[in-house]
Amino acid sequence: MNEPEAPTHGPAMTACESCGRHPRWETLVDGDEERWFAACRCGRMQAFLPDAPELQPEDPLGAFLAGPGRALAPASPPWIRLFLRSLEEPNPTRWTYCPGPCPGCQAAATFGFRACPRPFVLAMCTLCFRAASRRPRT
Ligand SMILES: [Zn+2]
Ligand SMILES: [Zn+2]
Repeated sequence: MNEPEAPTHGPAMTACESCGRHPRWETLVDGDEERWFAACRCGRMQAFLPDAPELQPEDPLGAFLAGPGRALAPASPPWIRLFLRSLEEPNPTRWTYCPGPCPGCQAAATFGFRACPRPFVLAMCTLCFRAASRRPRT
């Protein structure tokens, strides 16, 4: 997001209709489309879409982030985000296959990693995402 100083084609810098303060506008450029958003300290949100300057979207934040009439993708489950994050550089987690059935779904689809310095393997089923700690195989 930029911090525009004097927008020439953005929203009118008018006072908030609810409280009279002047919320700060943020802008983003998404492809050829530019969108603006302001969240007032009173909680009122506004979006401004230069292609439809009269439109006041029912969901200003959604219209700003995704575009008018487009749905935001649902949030990914926390375990998925943690797993994907664990693969990133500079210190990706070295997941290894953990043999044996998952206590949640009985499938043999569990991966884990050593939880050094603890003597366990932290394991996660890739089908039901049940997490558990296991004793490492000796
Ligand atoms: Zn306000
Ligand atoms: Zn499972």
